[in-house]
Amino acid sequence: MARVEINIELCKGCGLCIEACPKGCLKISSGFNRMGEHPAEWGSDEMCTGCGLCAVVCPDCAISIYK
Ligand code: SF4
Ligand code: SF4
Repeated sequence: MARVEINIELCKGCGLCIEACPKGCLKISSGFNRMGEHPAEWGSDEMCTGCGLCAVVCPDCAISIYK
């Protein structure tokens, strides 16, 4: 079991983490952050393996993985 936290104020909504996730756990949020971007959102704790790929590809270090 793993938990993914996204710092939405660091996220620019580039979508790289979404493309990288092999389990389809991430999506773009309908909400906005303070920069006016739609940040990524983690929505599938059942599927997430905690592999860390999303965190590795994030250029803004916005993702933290907890196992
Ligand atoms: S840790 Fe792995 S499975 Fe979980 S959201 Fe990130 S890329 Fe997807
Ligand atoms: S890779 Fe990082 S900056 Fe890009 S959408 Fe994902 S969390 Fe946001």
